[in-house]
Amino acid sequence: MRRIRIAGESLRDLDWSPGQHIRLRVGDLVHGFRDALRTYSIWDYDNRGRLDLCVFDHPEPGPGARWSRQVRIGQQVAFTHPEGRLVIQENAPYHLFVGDETASAAFGAMLRALPTSARVYAVLEVDTPEDRPRLPRASELTWVYRNAALTGPDSLADALHMLDLPTEPGMAYIAGEARTCQATRRHLVHDRGWPRKSTIVKPFWAPGKHGLD
Ligand SMILES: Cc1cc2nc3c(=O)[nH]c(=O)nc-3n(C[C@H](O)[C@H](O)[C@H](O)COP(=O)(O)OP(=O)(O)OC[C@H]3O[C@@H](n4cnc5c(N)ncnc54)[C@H](O)[C@@H]3O)c2cc1C
Repeated sequence: MRRIRIAGESLRDLDWSPGQHIRLRVGDLVHGFRDALRTYSIWDYDNRGRLDLCVFDHPEPGPGARWSRQVRIGQQVAFTHPEGRLVIQENAPYHLFVGDETASAAFGAMLRALPTSARVYAVLEVDTPEDRPRLPRASELTWVYRNAALTGPDSLADALHMLDLPTEPGMAYIAGEARTCQATRRHLVHDRGWPRKSTIVKPFWAPGKHGLD
């Protein structure tokens, strides 16, 4: 995961809610939109004009991961205004975060924005313990490791099945790999009886697909 800071006068006083993303120009438009734009959550923003992203360097790098490897200090970037509905629902009885490392950029911003009195549950997946991003409220987070001997392809969903949640629904924020997002929502709605409206699902990537937004 690479932290990349974008800074400049034009970034002062942006309208941003934690959890929202930007669409960033990572390639040439000559070859069309598919390879030109990728979406990244805002890890942190400070209204003096600094905005931080966390870009995951995954094993099949496309234009986004390659951009994160090659971008240099001083290089200009172009991107859209922050947008998106993966944002904290303030009146929720508690907040549940489920996702992989790509989701942790959005989740980090959202966790920092919550008051300390808010109840938080989280199941987060990374490759190894060394890959855990530094997130707030560390003691409330449950980590799942992809390369642990006994985990299968559904380790995140399996860990959520085992999570001891209150009996009443809270608000779930689900992001990351598309199929896992669907499995997670299905579990909350079908097995735990949550209303669909108590889940906000945002698939970030899918095997074989190029850019999801
Ligand atoms: C709302 C939103 C917010 C997002 N926020 C972030 C963020 O904060 N940080 C971040 O890193 N990404 C984030 N993403 C994903 C990001 O937009 C890109 O899809 C991702 O960086 C891959 O882009 P790429 O060009 O490298 O690969 P692509 O050309 O999009 O994909 C090439 C292939 O690589 C594989 N692949 C893609 N992503 C992964 C992965 N994570 N793990 C394993 N294999 C993969 C797939 O098989 C895919 O077919 C977000 C996506 C959305 C929709």
